[in-house]
Amino acid sequence: MIDKNHLRILFVEDLVSDVDLAVLELLKEGLRFEHKRTDSSDEFIKALKEFKPDIVISDYMMPSYNGMQALIDTREFDPLLPFIMFTGSMNEETAVECIKAGANDYVIKERLTRLPFAVKEVLEKHRSQIEKKAAEFLAKENQNKLQIIFRLAPVGIGLVVDQVFREVNDTFCKMTCYNRRELLGKNVKMIYSTNKGYKNVGIVKYWQNPEKGTGSTEARFKCKDGRILDIVLDATPLDKNDPAKGVIFTALDITERKQREKELWASEEKSRSIMENSADAIFISDPRGKYVYTNKAVTDMLGFASEEMKRKTINDIIPQNKKDEYLEIFEKVLSQGKAYAEVELLKKDGNFISADLNSVLLPGGLVYASCRDITERKRTQKELLDHRDRLEELVKERTEELSNAKKEAEEANRAKSEFLANMSHEIRTPLNAILGYTDLLNSLLVEKIQKDYLNSIYLSGRSLLKLINDILDLAKIEAGKLELEYDYVEAYSFFSEFERIFSLKVLEKGLKFILDISSGTPSGLYIDEARVRQIIFNILGNAVKFTSEGSIILKVFVENPRVVTSSKDKVEELIDLVIEVSDTGIGISNKIKDLIFEPFTQVGSLEKTGGTGLGLSITKKLLSLMNGSISVRSKPCRGSTFTLRIPAIAYRKDYAIPKSDILIDPSEIIFEEASILVVDDVKYNRSYIIDALRNTHLKIIEAEDGATALKMAKEIVPDLIIVDIRLPKMDGYQLLSKIKSVKKLKQIPVLAYSASVLKTQKERINKSDFSGLLTKPANVTELYLTLMNILPYKSLKKDESELLVSEPDMIDEIINLPDMVNALETDYYEIWKPFSIRQPISEIHDFADKLVLLGLNHNSGMITGYGKELISAAESFNIDALLKLIKKYKVLVENLRNSVKT
Ligand code: ADP
Repeated sequence: MIDKNHLRILFVEDLVSDVDLAVLELLKEGLRFEHKRTDSSDEFIKALKEFKPDIVISDYMMPSYNGMQALIDTREFDPLLPFIMFTGSMNEETAVECIKAGANDYVIKERLTRLPFAVKEVLEKHRSQIEKKAAEFLAKENQNKLQIIFRLAPVGIGLVVDQVFREVNDTFCKMTCYNRRELLGKNVKMIYSTNKGYKNVGIVKYWQNPEKGTGSTEARFKCKDGRILDIVLDATPLDKNDPAKGVIFTALDITERKQREKELWASEEKSRSIMENSADAIFISDPRGKYVYTNKAVTDMLGFASEEMKRKTINDIIPQNKKDEYLEIFEKVLSQGKAYAEVELLKKDGNFISADLNSVLLPGGLVYASCRDITERKRTQKELLDHRDRLEELVKERTEELSNAKKEAEEANRAKSEFLANMSHEIRTPLNAILGYTDLLNSLLVEKIQKDYLNSIYLSGRSLLKLINDILDLAKIEAGKLELEYDYVEAYSFFSEFERIFSLKVLEKGLKFILDISSGTPSGLYIDEARVRQIIFNILGNAVKFTSEGSIILKVFVENPRVVTSSKDKVEELIDLVIEVSDTGIGISNKIKDLIFEPFTQVGSLEKTGGTGLGLSITKKLLSLMNGSISVRSKPCRGSTFTLRIPAIAYRKDYAIPKSDILIDPSEIIFEEASILVVDDVKYNRSYIIDALRNTHLKIIEAEDGATALKMAKEIVPDLIIVDIRLPKMDGYQLLSKIKSVKKLKQIPVLAYSASVLKTQKERINKSDFSGLLTKPANVTELYLTLMNILPYKSLKKDESELLVSEPDMIDEIINLPDMVNALETDYYEIWKPFSIRQPISEIHDFADKLVLLGLNHNSGMITGYGKELISAAESFNIDALLKLIKKYKVLVENLRNSVKT
C-alpha cells in the first residue's frame, strides 16, 4: 500500500550503491520517504503508474536506459511531475539540455549533499506551481459562472462608469428593447423617461449619495419602443474608494406590480370614498388602539378633525370610569375577530354621546369600528319608557278608579236592589191596606158616583202593585241577582196548568183555549219551573188581554234532539224547547214590533190594558238568562204569534211527578232509629240540624272536618252522612269520594249540605254520587222531606189539607173573632170557591191581599200568615203550593169556627 503521507521517490539508476548513498543523504537531511528503483524503460513506466512517485531522480547515463529518455517518458506521463537529473561529471551543455528538456534540476553525484536541498526546492516549486494552476483554473471557473449569472439573471444588470454604460446583460437589453451595441458607450440619460427623472435618480440620489452611488430607488425608464417602465434601481460602486471605477446596477421591472398597485389603490380609493361618506362614524386603529383613519362622520359626531384623531388612541375618547370595560371589548375584537357593544364616547366639547359599536378585526391587524349615534334614540326610548311608566301609573290609577267605580256601582246596584225590595215591600203593605179598605168601603157605600171613585182608587192601586212587582223583577235580573233554579218538571201537567190558570178569563171573554202539546215532547224537562211559568204566563196573559174574540193557542214542541258528550265524557241528551202562543187579537203593527220588548212600551194606557209595559222585557231578559230567544209574527187585527225558544234542555223520557212535596208537620213524622253523621266546620250549622231533629229517634254525630268524619264513619258506620260542600282542607266532594272508596261505607247515602244554590253547583251535585242536596239554612220541612227520602219513617198524617203552616192563633187575642169568621165564611168564601177548580193567579193574589188585611184588622196572625203564604205562592207561580193552600182554606175556617163555638 502506498502511504500517501510519505514522500515517494522513484529512482532510475542502474547502480544500487548510488541509490543507497542518495537515500542515506536524503535521510540525513530529515526527509521521510518511500523509494523505488528502476533501471529499464518498461519498469520505469509501470512504476510511474503504480508507485505514483512525487519525484523522479534519474541517472543520466545507464547501460540499457538513459536519463533523457526517462525525462521524456516522465513528461509524457505528467508534464509537471518533478524530475531531477542525477549525473556523474557533467558539463554545462548537458545541464542546459536537461533543463530544456523539462528537468527541474540536476545534481552531480560527486556533490551528493546537494541532493536533499534540490529535492526540497523542486518539490516546493512544484507545489506552488500546482496551486497556481488550480487557482487559475478556479478563477476561470468562477468567471464562467459569473458570466452565466450575469447573462441569465432575471433582473437587468449593468456597469456604469462615469454615467456611461460599460456593460449590460441580456435581461437589461430585453427589458429596454435596446441591444448591447446601442447601449454600450452611451450616457445613461438615454434610458430615462424624463430629464427630471434622470436627474432625480442619476444625479440627486446616485451621485450625491454619501457612499457614492449605493442605494435603492425607483425610476422610470423609457424603452426603445416608447413604453415607460417602472423600475426599482439598485446600485453599488465597484470600489467604494474609487468612484471612477464605476457602479454596478440592477434594474427590476415593476411596471406590472405598479399597475396592480394602482388598480388596488383605485379600488381602495373607492372603499375609502365609501367609508369617508358613510353616515356611520368609522374608526380604524392599529392593534395598540391608535387611530390611523377616521372618516368625516367621526368629525361630525365627536367634533375632532381627522388629523386630531390621528393623534388619539381609544383611551382618549372613552369615559374614564368605563375604561376597563371598553378595553376589554377592544381586546375581544383582537382575540375573537369581532365585538358588538353599546358605548359612550367623549366629544370635543366634553359631552358624551351614546353609540352602537360594531367592530371587526381587519386582515393585517387593524381594528375597524363603526359607530352610530343613538343618543337621540336613547333619549326617545327613555321618554317612551317614562311615558310607559306614566301610562302604567295612569292605567293603574284608572283601573283603581274603575274598580272603585265598579265596586261603587255594584254597591249602588245592590243598594238599589235592596232599596227596591224594601220599597216594594213598604209600598205593598200600605197598598194592600188601601186595596183592602177600598173593598171594605165598597160594601158600605151605596152611591154610584162614590162607588165609581172608589173603583178608580182600587184599579189604580192594583196597577201600582203590579208595576212594583214587575220593577222588582226587572231590577233583580239587571243586577244579576236572579239565579235560575233548574229541576225536572213533568211537562204535561206543567203546561196544562195554564189552561186552568187562564180558564176563568178565557171563559169570561168567550175565547177558546187550545193546548197543543206535541207527542214528541219528553215527560221530564230540566228547566227553572217558576221562571218558565212566569214567561208563559206573561205571554199568555198578553194574548188573553189583547184578544176579544177567537182563540188562544198554546203549542209546545221540541226540536233538534241530540246527544252531547261533555268535556268530562258525560253523555247528555238535549233538545230545544219551543213554545208558541198564538192569538186572534188586535195584533201588533210593524212600527212597534221591535219596541215591545223594551221596558215600558205599551199600546194604550196602563189603565186600559192593565199592564206595566214591563212584561215582555222581563220575559226577554229571563229567556236570555236561559240562552233562549223570543220572536213575534203579527199583523194588526190579524192576531199575533209569539215564539219562545229555550235551547239545550236536558230531558227524561219517563218522568213522573214526585209525590210528597210540601208542608210537613214534624210531629207527624216518626223516623225509625238511625244515626246521622253531620260534617260541617261551622258549629251553628251542625247545631241547627241537632236542634231540628231533637225529639226524634235519630242520633246525630258531629264532625268538623273531613279527616275526623272519615275516621268516625269507619267506626260507627252511620245510616246517613250529611256533608258540607265547603269544608276546609278536604272539601265535600273529596270526602264523598273517600267515603265511597271505603267498602263498608260505600252504600251509605251522603247528602250535600250547601249554602250555595248556584246552578253550576247544583249541576255538579246532581252529577256526583251525592244522594241529594240540603240547602242551608234548611227549614224543618225541607230537612224532613229530604230525610224522609232516605230514612225509614212512619207518618201520623191524616189528611194533607189539615196541615197548618202558620202558627195557630192565640184565640183570645183575636179582635172580633166571630165577625172575622163570618166574613171568611161568606164574602171571602165566595171569592175562594172557584179557586178549587181554577187558579187565576192575579185573582188569587187579590184574594190573598184581602186576607192579609183582614188578618191585620182582627189581629189574627194565622189569617195574615195564610194570606202571605198565598201571595208568595202566587208570586212565584207555585201552582202546587197554591192548590194546597187553597185546599187548606176550609180547614182553617173550620178551626176558627170551632174556636168561636168553644
Ligand atoms: P204590558 O204589561 O203592558 O202588557 P208587555 O211588555 O207585556 O207590557 O207588552 C208590551 C206591549 O206589547 C203591549 O202594551 C202591547 O202593545 C204589545 N203586545 C204584547 N203582546 C201582545 C199581543 N198578544 N197582541 C197585541 N199586542 C201585544
